[in-house]
Amino acid sequence: MKAVLDHVGIAVKDLSAALAFYRDALGLHVEVPEEVASQRVRAHFIPTGEASLELLEATASDSAIAKYVEKRGPGLHHITLRVEDIRAALDQLKAKGVRLVDEQPRPGAEGALVAFIHPSSAHGVLVELKQASPKPLAPSPVLRYELGDLELISLFDGYIRLDGGAMFGVVPKPLWEKHAPPDERGRILLAMRPLVVRGVRTMLIDAGLGDKDDAKFHDIYGVDRRRNLDMTLAEAGLRPEDIDIVLASHLHFDHCGGFTYRDASGAIKPKFPRAQYVIRRGEWEDATHTHERNRASYLPDNYVPLADAGVLQLVDDDMTIMPGVRVKRTGGHCMHHQIIYIESKGETAIFAADLVPTTAHLPNAWIMGYDLYPMDTLAAKKAFFADVAARNALVFFEHDPLVAAAHIREDKGKRTYERA
Ligand SMILES: [Zn+2]
Ligand SMILES: [Zn+2]
Repeated sequence: MKAVLDHVGIAVKDLSAALAFYRDALGLHVEVPEEVASQRVRAHFIPTGEASLELLEATASDSAIAKYVEKRGPGLHHITLRVEDIRAALDQLKAKGVRLVDEQPRPGAEGALVAFIHPSSAHGVLVELKQASPKPLAPSPVLRYELGDLELISLFDGYIRLDGGAMFGVVPKPLWEKHAPPDERGRILLAMRPLVVRGVRTMLIDAGLGDKDDAKFHDIYGVDRRRNLDMTLAEAGLRPEDIDIVLASHLHFDHCGGFTYRDASGAIKPKFPRAQYVIRRGEWEDATHTHERNRASYLPDNYVPLADAGVLQLVDDDMTIMPGVRVKRTGGHCMHHQIIYIESKGETAIFAADLVPTTAHLPNAWIMGYDLYPMDTLAAKKAFFADVAARNALVFFEHDPLVAAAHIREDKGKRTYERA
């Protein structure tokens, strides 16, 4: 097991006295405290090179830190070792007869997983194991790709969190959690990555979640749009009025929320003032005639105002939307879900939308529980990967938290990806 010292926890009785030493006398920087409500403790981190110090201040008399201070006085409380795979580490320790406080990891601060080893097995020291949050720390950059005469620009509209079980359908959690570690509410991190195609016209494919949702929605779906489509569009050197065509893969809220916005008067308007919005007719019909099973995914404010504004163009079939860009219906996820083929000078890129939402969904059977017609997804996936292999196509993953686009390799039936 590879373990790195993450931090040393120090139980504090009198915070201002502790700060007088660590901050004022030693001259160290003390970060803004973090409240860990479940432990009734406030944590003040002090960076000290690779590892840090953590001053632990009880916020209630029944907190473990308050009891510790009462019994033993303030001072060293625990050390924390960071490991890559906390479950593997716990299994290894159990096999060696080490006594554990936590047999299973539990959620810690900042999305980390933590577990304590009993001091009786660690020679009098309380040892915490920690697996850091999988959340990427580096912001998702705007990525540009050349494809023949076309320029493709991968944008970003933030993250949402969806139920991990629902994202992988019949695949058991012990398999999928290695690819997509769930948070304390069982949700996995997903990005929203709209794509710009610049050719004879400027097209935007899907537009992420947008900013019309309320706090309850943000809590349920773990929305993090600190970095969003407005910012990445500007970084790409584009203004909303530069977009000529907005093309929808389908009308679920995480794909078309950004089609509209709420103005100062409360009216909902098209976000891209000069654009025609191209939507498949069958999908439009489904989105405007929902049923109990799909209703939570279709929010009319995202698309009905487009019809009211007269900027809606419905297309009936697989067809070319602008030179080099055509749509192909896959069904499966929803009856009229479509993927987008981008072709120029013999090169191909495919925007896979929710057919293959992340690189974890490469195996045929890894199909979302959300899909209304999973057997259609299976057939569409087989055809998709055969086509990707035949054309050595670049695949855009709309929801992958780390990989915007990749080439796919297939060896003895096992698919891997090479980030582009
Ligand atoms: Zn969808
Ligand atoms: Zn989606």
